[in-house]
Amino acid sequence: MTESNSLLSRRRLLQSAGAVWLLSVSPAGIAASSHVVAVRIWPSSTYSRLTLESNVPLQYKQFALRDPERVVIDIENIHLNHVLKGVGSLVAAHDPFIKNARVGQFDQHTVRLVLELKQNVAARIFTLPPIAGIKDRLVLDLYPAQAPVEDDPLLALLEDYNQSDLALEQSQPREAPLPGKAGRDRPIVIMLDPGHGGEDSGAVGKNKTREKDIVLKIARRLKAMIDKQPNMRAYMTRNEDVFIPLKVRVAKARKQRADLFVSIHADAFTSRAARGSSVFALSTKGATSTAARFLAQTQNESDLIGGVSRSGDRYLDHTMFDMVQSLTINDSLKFGKEVLSRLGRINHLHKRTVDQAGFAVLKAPDIPSILVETAFISNLEEERKLRTSAFQHQVAESILAGIKAYFATGAAVASK
Ligand SMILES: [Zn+2]
Repeated sequence: MTESNSLLSRRRLLQSAGAVWLLSVSPAGIAASSHVVAVRIWPSSTYSRLTLESNVPLQYKQFALRDPERVVIDIENIHLNHVLKGVGSLVAAHDPFIKNARVGQFDQHTVRLVLELKQNVAARIFTLPPIAGIKDRLVLDLYPAQAPVEDDPLLALLEDYNQSDLALEQSQPREAPLPGKAGRDRPIVIMLDPGHGGEDSGAVGKNKTREKDIVLKIARRLKAMIDKQPNMRAYMTRNEDVFIPLKVRVAKARKQRADLFVSIHADAFTSRAARGSSVFALSTKGATSTAARFLAQTQNESDLIGGVSRSGDRYLDHTMFDMVQSLTINDSLKFGKEVLSRLGRINHLHKRTVDQAGFAVLKAPDIPSILVETAFISNLEEERKLRTSAFQHQVAESILAGIKAYFATGAAVASK
């Protein structure tokens, strides 16, 4: 993953041989102990992220300049290298925030990176430790500065998220499910959650298939199918290649007052022989199988990969939620069973019952939530299958059939 990204940067660098640099002199004599190994830019409609990956943690200073609006990062004790020089060619024309990027050796010990902006931004800079084959990172997130936080649900959620949790959680009005019987008096609201995104590729198959791309395709298909139903409406936690923290995914579902939450994955397992679809619900007590424990652990690492290191259990630590949560888990298990039995018609099943583990993304206390492992991307045959639109379509159909069957039982939503 890292390797292919830096290869990509190199290719882009070659394509941009005509780019103009501030200064491209590389003074001799700097101890080349720290260097940047990859530069990535993830533009999205909500925020743009610049990631500098390096062999050791970077020392930096960040500040803003006006007229024109710029964000400047001075990186200390570093040489300008070909990876850094490629940054200008990484800026996409459609990036809503970054107009262009330049880099130069500012003085003997400092590389200066200048981002010229398309609009006023709020910048957030932080470092991330190495994880999952990715080295140390310096991350700069650019958000729109002018929109008041409450106007943008994601920003507001991120803002909540960055502040402290429990007090905040209690002071916010609970988002009750919409009144009326879902599917009869009002549409059934389904929140689809394509796993991973942006910096977090998810699992990568032997033939370089990335989980984040496959699950986004499946979720888009499923959304289109759901929106064609007269009594259902689907939303997505992400519809782009962007990193969204796990708790923000949960918060988005609660904000939309979703009746169901479906997280879609295609993970890897330690053994390439592992295969088959599985469905998971939350467990508050512990994992019911080794695979569940392993997958929950790797899934929950998403936030470490993408940049949220706080680990507080915002919902589960709160005893008030316990009763609601156990009712919700019962509903999740019923829902999961319906989906699992349909998946069993299109693929081998990894396990014949709904598995349970402490997946952070399933922790909405009041929304039945499942995590669907569509297939193992680490299994060569299933990786091949996951790439086909036929299988993606079948998975989406199976989940939709499971949703319909769950609501057909009538029990779930009538009780709310
Ligand atoms: Zn996954």
